[in-house]
Amino acid sequence: MAYDFDLFVIGGGSGGVRAARIAAGSGAKVGLAEEYRMGGTCVIRGCVPKKLMVYASGYAKDFKTAEGFGWSADNIRYDHKKCMTAIANEVTRLSGLYMRGQKGAGVEVYEQRAQFIDAHTLELQPSGKQITAEKILIAVGGAPWAPADADLPGVERTITSNEIFDLRELPEHIVLVGGGYIAVEFAHVFAGLGAKTTLIYRKDRVLRGFDEDVRDQVQQGLIDAGVNMLMNTTPVRIEAGGTLDHQLTLGTGETLDASVIMMATGRTPYTKGLGCEKAGIALDKNGAVVVDGFSKTNVENIWAVGDVTDRVQLTPVAIREGHAFADTEFHGNSWKFDHTDIPTAVFTQPEVGTVGLSEAQARAEHGELDIYKTSFGPMKNAISGGISKVFMKLVVRQSDQRVLGVHVVSPDAAEMIQTAGIAVKMGATKQDFDRTCALHPSIAEELVTMRQKVS
Ligand code: FAD
Ligand code: NDP
Repeated sequence: MAYDFDLFVIGGGSGGVRAARIAAGSGAKVGLAEEYRMGGTCVIRGCVPKKLMVYASGYAKDFKTAEGFGWSADNIRYDHKKCMTAIANEVTRLSGLYMRGQKGAGVEVYEQRAQFIDAHTLELQPSGKQITAEKILIAVGGAPWAPADADLPGVERTITSNEIFDLRELPEHIVLVGGGYIAVEFAHVFAGLGAKTTLIYRKDRVLRGFDEDVRDQVQQGLIDAGVNMLMNTTPVRIEAGGTLDHQLTLGTGETLDASVIMMATGRTPYTKGLGCEKAGIALDKNGAVVVDGFSKTNVENIWAVGDVTDRVQLTPVAIREGHAFADTEFHGNSWKFDHTDIPTAVFTQPEVGTVGLSEAQARAEHGELDIYKTSFGPMKNAISGGISKVFMKLVVRQSDQRVLGVHVVSPDAAEMIQTAGIAVKMGATKQDFDRTCALHPSIAEELVTMRQKVS
């Protein structure tokens, strides 16, 4: 049977655009549907505008610390509307680049929603046009999750990270609910920009799943940044009233007035309404598309990559999964993405950079360990009066001295960990770190000069 397309990709985000472009490079006829804006979460309402906001908020501290070096900066003002308009313009520019990239690669782009009719047929909305494809890639990403109104009455008064980039006024008091990546990053952003900021988390320390020492550092960093940290509690009701727009009641009975409340309580695969059941595609209990190592679903001609598979919700992971799929299916070059030792950063201020296993994971999986840690005030602090300490930790397998994990909390930790990630991926030992010459003066040099085991 002749199909309209050799490959049709649903979703123009990180995973989808990479897969479509690489597949089209083989001469295959490729189509792609995007229901919102080309570029997906990362470009439109994730990594990119978030990182730009992190830069914006960092200046507050820079102006202050510059004084120690002789600068005086009077009448410093911040204009949230100006900043967010500039960010929105940059996002629009990038989205345009993504669109041009697809078209330039020969991909036929439909700015519409796609839904399954059967395993080879999709319907585009709102046009109602039906298209057929030999192979289909699901790359629809995820969506913010928040409790239902029955569990949190008044939840409709809250926003998520989807809407945070639309705010044109700096909130007087922003309340963030959650203790993961998004909550801690935006807590620093808004505290840095000068908004009163509260973070509410249901347990005692943020960033569950990260190394315990890193969690301690980040928790302290949030306190140092002036974030009001309300731990071991959760909102139970949100109503109009109080001195600001919303009044939040916590499980402890305490009430808070807030101008903006952002739920940062995780993201779920965006398969609702996609019609997966019509094509017989198996989903797990969270709605994630179930795939094998080659990102293939239980249906012979359908694959899925990125956040919709709920493996690791990071942009470079979605990109690599999409690339592996396209190489394997369209270029005769079969490979699987390896989900171990993925470097990741949390853009707190200072940043977290981490690769490999936490101490607890390494102990559970590998037994005896050597642990190296250091914590110090960076050189810049001496004159600037900055208070943030740098923290570094190496988790080493005792038997063969292989470095299983590197954890850094520091300015530019993301930049450091990208490079350290190469060493970890190559299987470097602690002795390999030791025989690497330091680069002085830098913060990163401490990664190769840690001599004293702490346990
Ligand atoms: P997405 O990028 O979400 O793309 C899916 C696309 O499919 C969307 O454009 C959507 O509109 C479209 N779509 C959905 N359904 C349909 C349909 N039926 N028909 C047509 N189109 C459809 N990751 C990092 O690595 N670093 C970071 O710093 C980082 N920061 C983040 C900050 C925030 C606030 C958020 C929310 C996420 C962040 N992430 C970060 C995660 C990252 O954005 C995602 O992991 C990544 O975008 C996943 O790519 P994807 O291709 O799977 O999905
Ligand atoms: P996370 O999964 O990181 O964190 C969700 C948080 O919400 C957790 O602290 C969780 O608590 C809490 N939570 C979940 N359910 C409830 C509930 N019912 N009531 C109260 N709290 C609840 O999700 P995020 O939304 O922060 O981010 C989504 C993903 O996007 C991240 O996991 C990451 O993969 C990606 N991302 C990556 C970034 C980066 O690379 N820098 C930046 C931003 C996002 P508990 O820990 O107790 O379960």
